[in-house]
Amino acid sequence: MTQYDNLYLYIDGEFIDGAQRRSQTVSNPADGSVLGELPHASADDLDRALAAAQRAFLSWRLESPLVRSEILRRAAHLARERAREIGRHITLDQGKPLAEAESEVLSAAEHAEWHAEEGRRIYGRVIPARTPEVEQVVLREPIGVSAAFTPWNFPFSQAMRKIAAALASGCTIIIKGPEDAPSALVALARLFHDAGLPNGCLNVVWGVPHEVSRHLIESSVVRKVSFTGSVAVGKQLAALAGSQMKRTTMELGGHAPVIVCDDADVDDAARKLVAFKYRNAGQVCISPTRFLVHRTVYERFVDAFLLYTSRIRIGPGLAEGTTMGPLAHQRRVSEMQEFVTDARNGGAEIAAGGARLGDTGCFFAPTVILDPAAQSQVMTQEPFGPLAAIVPFGELDSAIALANGLPFGLAAYAFTSSSRNAHAISRGLEAGMVNINHFGAGLAEVPFGGMKDSGLGSEGGVETFEGYLITKLVTRHCG
Ligand code: NAD
Repeated sequence: MTQYDNLYLYIDGEFIDGAQRRSQTVSNPADGSVLGELPHASADDLDRALAAAQRAFLSWRLESPLVRSEILRRAAHLARERAREIGRHITLDQGKPLAEAESEVLSAAEHAEWHAEEGRRIYGRVIPARTPEVEQVVLREPIGVSAAFTPWNFPFSQAMRKIAAALASGCTIIIKGPEDAPSALVALARLFHDAGLPNGCLNVVWGVPHEVSRHLIESSVVRKVSFTGSVAVGKQLAALAGSQMKRTTMELGGHAPVIVCDDADVDDAARKLVAFKYRNAGQVCISPTRFLVHRTVYERFVDAFLLYTSRIRIGPGLAEGTTMGPLAHQRRVSEMQEFVTDARNGGAEIAAGGARLGDTGCFFAPTVILDPAAQSQVMTQEPFGPLAAIVPFGELDSAIALANGLPFGLAAYAFTSSSRNAHAISRGLEAGMVNINHFGAGLAEVPFGGMKDSGLGSEGGVETFEGYLITKLVTRHCG
């Protein structure tokens, strides 16, 4: 029997179980077994969370940055101490291999620590006035209660980013996590509780996603909305927030292009790209998806890519040696099947994988699709799964144009040994994060965000605080 902790709501410093509440079953995507029951928040619970977050904001906004920093540091410390256990639970309900789950927790600890440091450096400024009797000061003040909605692919680190940014800025937060993979957020609530965060500063709720988000966003208490998930849902939430003039940060979907130039180290590129493509079974918003490869190195690249893909070991995330676990839920398996069928019907070659594996759990083979039609689903819609589409190109300009041809603009990648190509690519690509010859996005100190349909605002880097602060001018005549 695997062990899985009880699941709770966390409101005003209290862990609340499912008594007399609606609930939903949480299951293990590796074998379908039941892991636990997740309580849903009632409308009264949501109102209580709103009241608690509002009340807590009145004191947290005035709290010393040193105190905020100390609590975030303690949370980081506890995350490291508990990484193995939290990681195991993430593997159970989300599916990713244990090593990936544990490293997600450790990297989130770094985010908490970085915000603990950087939150002490939220400065205003003094603007020289036109006359000596006038003083002009710009204050940066926390915006208020934040409502956040986080997804299941990185259930710990996505939530930590939003919580750390809100708390370090002096905001309080109500967060609805992913009902499919809830253990990480319950563990996060426990961390902050144990780290001494005052009651009401962090509240965790669960429920029917559109009901919870509407209830929270429509409340006058909430001043800021932050969402990570699909473009479609992001647009709905941004519209709802916009109709009430609320600040938003939106981390939405992508369809990352990779350009492999004729002067690239082809084997190095293929090896790195396979590891990155199939991390978390491809369920990553910055996962490389459209591989545009110069035709002179196309065959070599495809051979190397297929070789490294064949070395992936698929199995339950807790099993020794597994490098790719199941998809997070059955919806993703059905979608992968649709993408593959559509590509095949359009004339593409399925050079590896292309099918579900076994009949228990949500396993889908790492899949390589060669030369799919430009209008095929895999070339135009985000697969969010273990599919790689590889197509040849002739001229760099046409590859850049192809890369920019979709409404997404999140991450993009390129492999080249020429600084001229690197310059043209980094300036030409419409993407919030351009990575050349490696994968460098997602660190605490660098901004993470997209352009076009991929979102608004950034998380990470000093940009992270923009979404949580208001700018207030104080101008004073001293005469
Ligand atoms: P989805 O859009 O239904 O859900 C994505 C996340 O948003 C889930 O955690 C869900 O609980 C939440 N959500 C859905 N509707 C919501 C609402 N009205 N209010 C608040 N939260 C809501 O999609 P899915 O089937 O769970 O996941 C697949 C798609 O989600 C992918 O195609 C991908 O684009 C997107 N996704 C993106 C990221 C990312 O990091 N940007 C992460 C996970 C999922």
